[in-house]
Amino acid sequence: MIKFDRSSSGILIVCTDCPYWYAYRFEQREAYLSGEGHLTRVHDVPAEVADNARTKWEGRHAARS
Ligand SMILES: [Zn+2]
Repeated sequence: MIKFDRSSSGILIVCTDCPYWYAYRFEQREAYLSGEGHLTRVHDVPAEVADNARTKWEGRHAARS
């Protein structure tokens, strides 16, 4: 499972199943994409499942503007 640790400078992306893996991005959308890539490559999560969190987030942001 992907978790995001946000700080003032960026977003640390970690996987609760892979203590050795992490990534760092400066934008939330990029952070979601990075997490999705990890889930599909390493955990064989189907892309349409892996992108759920991002599509929900994008939906919320689209509704706001
Ligand atoms: Zn993992």
